[in-house]
Amino acid sequence: MKTRVITLLLCAAASGFAADPIRVSSFSTILTEVAREVGGDRVAVTGHIRPGIDPHDFEPKPADLKTVSQSQLVLLSAKHMEGYVNKLKEATGGKGNVVEVGDQFPSLKMKSDHDHGGGKTHEEVVEDPHWWHSVANAKRATKVVRDELTKLSPADKAAFAKHADAYLARLDALQSWVKARIAELPRDRRKLVTSHDAFQYFARENGFTIYAIEGVSSADQPSSKKVAEIIATIKTQGVKAIFPEAIENPKVLTEITRETGARIGPELHADGLGDGAASTYEGMMKQNVTAIVDALK
Ligand SMILES: [Zn+2]
Repeated sequence: MKTRVITLLLCAAASGFAADPIRVSSFSTILTEVAREVGGDRVAVTGHIRPGIDPHDFEPKPADLKTVSQSQLVLLSAKHMEGYVNKLKEATGGKGNVVEVGDQFPSLKMKSDHDHGGGKTHEEVVEDPHWWHSVANAKRATKVVRDELTKLSPADKAAFAKHADAYLARLDALQSWVKARIAELPRDRRKLVTSHDAFQYFARENGFTIYAIEGVSSADQPSSKKVAEIIATIKTQGVKAIFPEAIENPKVLTEITRETGARIGPELHADGLGDGAASTYEGMMKQNVTAIVDALK
């Protein structure tokens, strides 16, 4: 190990590569990948949210804030995903470059139930934060990251542009692959019944309609009226499969599948990258699209 470190340092010195890498803190598994792809060996990226961690529940720990305080670029998913954004801005002492990437492209709206204590909830309409399920948005994010890195290190402009172009070409290929897979589904089968409002950007880009099954995945017992409504929707829309995010209410799901004949599709990666084949953006998108198309065919 020691030998390897010394060899690397010697190589760096020999090639005249003396500048320290740009320190980047990322609070999105997608943006962590984008920053590493575009920055290459000119960046050192800390992914504060690891694949498989729910970004809705994440709170930065003191160690995260310390890393942020030493970062030159902080990348956020944004669209209100990070309720702790002010903590991060404080940690940088106002001098850190906090970039709210998702805020730079158009928003879809979603309903959000906010608990105001005492069991009272009230519904409000908020920006849907799940922008990365649109490949077009992933391409926009790549350009934002490229431009931010270039501002920090103008001397590396050409390298960042080259890396970004290569990654954008892969995203173009992914977009074509997605379109081809979805073309296998007749238009009237492009219906997503899901318990988590994560796929609106995907639906918009690929011509799907979303029917939410709110309540079914929560620990609360949904009313029989609500269950009857869901069953009626699935029947009238001729939906072949449903995609519950978390199956916490197996009794209700069993009732729905028994009454409608719809199957329960595999769990989709709603909130970022996962494990194994889903640990890259391309892999995650391909797993979701394959699961959706195969279940609805
Ligand atoms: Zn989500």
